[in-house]
This record gives sequence, structure tokens and C-alpha cells, in this order.
Amino acid sequence: MKKTGNISALLNKMGKNRNTVFLVMCLIVHIAYFSVFFIMGAIPLCFINGLSSVFYVLFLLFSKDREKSEKATVWAYFEIILFSTLCEIFTRNTFGFIYYVIGMVPAIFYLCPSYGKKRFIFQIFGVLSALMIHHTQILIPHSFFSQVFEELSPYSRIFNFINLIITLLTVLYTSFFYELELNMIKTELDYSSTHDPLTGLYNRRFLYDAVIKGEKDQISIVLFDIDNFKKINDRFGHDIGDEVLKKLSSCIQEGLNGDSLYPVRWGGEEFILYYKDMDIESAYERARLLCRIISEKIILPNKEHVTVTVGLASGKRAEFDNVVKKADEYLYIGKKCGKNCIVWPKNENEYTKNAPTVS
Ligand code: GH3
Ligand code: MG
Ligand code: MG
Repeated sequence: MKKTGNISALLNKMGKNRNTVFLVMCLIVHIAYFSVFFIMGAIPLCFINGLSSVFYVLFLLFSKDREKSEKATVWAYFEIILFSTLCEIFTRNTFGFIYYVIGMVPAIFYLCPSYGKKRFIFQIFGVLSALMIHHTQILIPHSFFSQVFEELSPYSRIFNFINLIITLLTVLYTSFFYELELNMIKTELDYSSTHDPLTGLYNRRFLYDAVIKGEKDQISIVLFDIDNFKKINDRFGHDIGDEVLKKLSSCIQEGLNGDSLYPVRWGGEEFILYYKDMDIESAYERARLLCRIISEKIILPNKEHVTVTVGLASGKRAEFDNVVKKADEYLYIGKKCGKNCIVWPKNENEYTKNAPTVS
């Protein structure tokens, strides 16, 4: 398990820095070719690779963040086109340096998403360059660089094969990390469309989906609202108010851990515990426990304890809206009767007697 976690953490890290990793890979290839051509005495190719290596060092120094590393990748793209053109001229289209340009046409798309539609222009330029490079043999007279070519020609097959492999690996590498990033974005979107960003609890949208998809028929709704929250904001500031909301979320998640429950931020400082298969008595016990945990654990800077008022109702899943409405009525009664209480069908009469203004 831990091993899988480490691998996915490494992949995520690589995915986030995929442009930098790509530039490092290009640098390694150029340094390797610089050394090989140096040993072979192929000075023009050695020189081109040496110069390219210097460029990649500069690109890497420039790539301080994601935006800059994408910019450096675009420069690298044009460097690769120029590099391939020159190498193909010297090797008379036999070493397969053209593969780099062909491979970079899809790769630039994956590596530079922030360039949007501009990427298509880069791609068209790459396609035209590949077509031009393919004809360098015809365009450049045979007498040019013939000595370099004669010395290198016995190695053309092996270099052609190596260049093909490097290109294929580059395309696989970039598309793999592009897919990984898309999946990460999808997960984030799924999360933010169903969760409240401040508390991490579910939002209304999620709850309605859960109600529609639910299988059990008996539901209980614990609707609660923080008492005098406006005063908390006014006296201690909005940040402390936010802290209270976050602490309340942890109270729900820790205190009611293990229940088959959906905790939802229903509105500003109003929350719902949606129990999809629970009778009202058990839900009442949960509500009591929650009230106790909240008042014990959430303490304001002036040492006052935060309290909530709860409306609890139960009914059929198909009548979800009515159950929420009922819980809301109980909550309203509880607020009118002095707050910090739970109102539900079993004590409804007791409270309504004390709250004559509520119909
Ligand atoms: P009651 O006891 O009757 O519920 O009174 P109350 O002051 O809690 O209720 P009221 O509806 O008057 O005030 C709710 C306040 O909650 C108003 C609003 O500014 C604040 N609020 C809503 N959402 C947020 C939030 O995300 N962060 C903070 N800090 N405050 C919020
Ligand atoms: Mg309130
Ligand atoms: Mg409120």
C-alpha cells in the first residue's frame, strides 16, 4: 500500500514538473550525443549538440515556475526544429533526427496547455518544418558536407533506431502525464462541485443527488444553526467566524464518525445531518451528542461556549423537501424559545406553548 502511495506521489510530483523533467531529458540526450559525436570526431554534430546543451541549461535556469517552464518548452520546441534541420543536413536524412520534430508536434500540445489555440500554430509550423526537413537532401547539394556524411554513414541505422526510440518515449511520457493531469483536474472539479470549500462538508447539490440516488426510504434530518453567529462575527471578526465554522465541521466529522451520514453545509451557518436510514429516536441521540461536542469544543476568545439550535424531523425519502421544511419549522421554534435546544415531534408541544408567535 505504502509503495503504491509513494509511486503515485512521485508520479504526481513528476506530472506537476513535467516540463522541467522534459527539458532535463533533452539536456541529457544532447550531452550524450555531444560526447558520442566528440568520440567519433564528428565535429559539426558535436558542436550542434554542445550548443544545444548550453541552451537547455539556460532554459532550465529560466524555468522557475510552471508558467516559465512552459515558455522554455516553446523555445525548446523551436530549438528542436532548428537542431533537427541542421543534423539532417549533415547526415543526409539518414539518422532520423526528423523524428524529434514529428514527435514534438503532439508533445507541444500536451506540454503547453496554457498556450491554448496558439499550440495549433506551433503544430502547423512543426508539420511544415518536418516536410521541409524531409527534403533537405534534395535542397542541399550533395557536395556539401560530404566528408562528414561519409564518416558517419556506417552508423546511420543504429542512430536512426535510437532517435526513433527517444521520440516514441517522449510522446508516451508527455501523453501519460497529460492524462494524469486531466484526471487530477477532474477529481478536483468533482470535489469542488459537491463540497463546501470552507468547511469541506458536502453542499446542497450533493445532498439532492444523494436523496435522488438513495435506496432506503426512512430518512431523518437534523437541521441546526449556530446561535448568535452574527454577534461572533461582529465581536471577534470574520476570520474567527470562519474558524468557528471549520471547528464545527471537525466536530461533526470526529464526533459522529462511523455513522452512515451526510453532513451538509446547508447555508451560511446552517447545517444538515442527513441520515438516510435511521429512526428519529436514534437521530435525536446523535443530535444531543453533537450539541454537547460543539459546546465543549468550540470556545470563543472570551471563553464563551458556542451553541446551536436544532430542528429534527423524520419521514419518507420521497418527501425530502417536506421533511426539511418541518425541521426548519422546529428550528425556528427553538430560536424563538431561547436557542441552544433541540426541537422535534416529541417536545414540539412543549415549545410551541412558549412560542405563541409561531403558527
Ligand atoms: P440566530 O441565533 O438567530 O441564528 O442569529 P445569528 O446571528 O446566528 O443569525 P443571522 O442570520 O442574523 O446571522 C448569520 C450570520 O452568518 C450573517 C452572516 O454574515 C454570517 N455568515 C454567513 N456565512 C458566513 C461565513 O462563511 N463566514 C462567516 N464568518 N460568517 C458568515
Ligand atoms: Mg444563527
Ligand atoms: Mg442562520
